[in-house]
Amino acid sequence: MWVSNAEAGFRTRAVRTASAVMLTLAAASASLAASPAASTVPILPPTPAWSGKSRTLIARPSDPWITPSEAAGFATTPRYADTVRWLSRLCDASPDLEMVSLGRSPEGRDLWMVVATRGGGSNPAAVHAAGRPIVLAQAGIHAGEIDGKDAGMMLLRDLQPGRRLAGLLDDVSLLFVPIFNVDGHERFSAFTRINQRGPREAGWRTTARNLNLNRDYTKLDALEMRAMVQALVQWDPELYIDLHVTDGGDYQYDVTWGYNGGVGWSPAIRQWLNGALTPAIRSALTAQGHVPGPFVWPLDEDDLSKGIVEATTTPRLSNGYGDARHMPAMLVENHSLKSYEQRVLGMYVLLEASLRVVGHDGGALRQAIAADRARRAESIPLDWKWPSQPATRTFQYLGTYSRRVPSAISGGLRVDWRGLPDNVTLPITTQTEPKAEVTRPRAYWIPAAWSDVADRLALHGIQVDRQTAARDLEVEMYRVTSAKFDSVAFEGHVRVTPKVEKFTQRRTFAAGSVRVPTDQPLGDLAILLLEPQSPESFFQWGFFNECLQQTEYVEGYIMEPMAERMLAESATVRADFERKLLDPTFAGQSRERLQWFYRQTPFFDADARLYPVGRE
Ligand SMILES: [Zn+2]
Repeated sequence: MWVSNAEAGFRTRAVRTASAVMLTLAAASASLAASPAASTVPILPPTPAWSGKSRTLIARPSDPWITPSEAAGFATTPRYADTVRWLSRLCDASPDLEMVSLGRSPEGRDLWMVVATRGGGSNPAAVHAAGRPIVLAQAGIHAGEIDGKDAGMMLLRDLQPGRRLAGLLDDVSLLFVPIFNVDGHERFSAFTRINQRGPREAGWRTTARNLNLNRDYTKLDALEMRAMVQALVQWDPELYIDLHVTDGGDYQYDVTWGYNGGVGWSPAIRQWLNGALTPAIRSALTAQGHVPGPFVWPLDEDDLSKGIVEATTTPRLSNGYGDARHMPAMLVENHSLKSYEQRVLGMYVLLEASLRVVGHDGGALRQAIAADRARRAESIPLDWKWPSQPATRTFQYLGTYSRRVPSAISGGLRVDWRGLPDNVTLPITTQTEPKAEVTRPRAYWIPAAWSDVADRLALHGIQVDRQTAARDLEVEMYRVTSAKFDSVAFEGHVRVTPKVEKFTQRRTFAAGSVRVPTDQPLGDLAILLLEPQSPESFFQWGFFNECLQQTEYVEGYIMEPMAERMLAESATVRADFERKLLDPTFAGQSRERLQWFYRQTPFFDADARLYPVGRE
């Protein structure tokens, strides 16, 4: 038995997924020719009938503000144009709602955001001036997982005067993005989510350029992500909610959510999320007939009894990104095997509870945010290890019974989910051990020639100080001693993992170079983007590959006589060379022997394999 490998995923799993995708493509083209009718009907495990109290939230058929999905009995979800039309009508009718475009997608669609604030407001300054805390909820970052859109439409309706949530906007403002991946949403069909129980048709996970927006938070390749991050910078919400639906196994929970593991980069925020937000959401969902659960991973996919893990991710994903930029962020994963009605209603309840908590406890939340933004940790973890120590805590896990039977199809074991509850006590661990850490430098120096990287830092809202004159200063530099390129592209990049050695030298940074101080609220994020050992660094995403190439060479007929003279002239060179020759590998490589001499000449490129960003 195993639990969900919910699709928000993280790195180790993502790498595995990439090769799985290639295999799937090959299989798909082979089977299309046959394509029997049975291939069009996903066979999902049974799920218990559900009739939670939250069904009372559904508008009556006579209600003029019934949402398209409610009107269809949650069998369908509206297309982009219908969604925008319905929301525009609601905003026109409401004193508190306005629609703003965050930008355009590659296919030219507006990324709409509804601003729900008492008295109305369509720009960050106006909404901030009102003083209420802000929740930004986004649906459809993976457009097939679209529960959040239909839940948010119902919720916006219910914030209207005379309706059940009319008072809520006294305490809090809501920014709601109904569809983040707008182009993916319009790749609309019945065949986008084989493992999800409704709606009948939905959009696609990735963008029109096949980018996964929930892997783009740091590198900012997608226009959609640039628009969203710009919105996060400008609107600076107190809580950022990213709404998904799982892939993977079965369990009893219908709504699961989490933040970013155990330690991360924002300890005060984490304490508020765990202490104030989680209990409130859990009790609201339970009261409305839902089964709330934590967002966890199995330690071993094939053996749940080994326990579950609260994962800590890098800022590639929304929850890791929020953590790294000290913006409270919540990742919500509805369970794909539950009915669409149950899922949409669960998300509505979660959103309502979140708005209430932020509204009532906004003061404490703001203090937590301020504390983390003022914190200047001396040592910054860059990545996290999978837990190596046995768990010391246990967790009452609401699983679903399954059995494993031999399979004639796969030749392996087949998992049969039976849809029946199976409550088990499981060990639970939290990912808290850093895989790599660096000390905090005072600043980074990005040479003028790499201003594209500085531009991306600025998009994150990181303060970058462009120098008008050349600067000569002592900095720490990294030399790349080895660089391992991935064998397949991932999210449009061939990633590279380096080993580096650090040394100190005086360097001149030309006019136009950029100094990035780490003594700023986004200092930790700058570190994660600029340290080459960070999995989220621009280096590892391949933005600095040019540095890994040697571009000047020496001919043997020149180096040979020079080497003879160097040996004759210097006892040290002689002794070093003799010592090197004791290494049989070196001794057997004539080219390497000449290179050894070349590297000791001033002709050799002193900046070979040098990561050009300096640490002040
Ligand atoms: Zn997702």
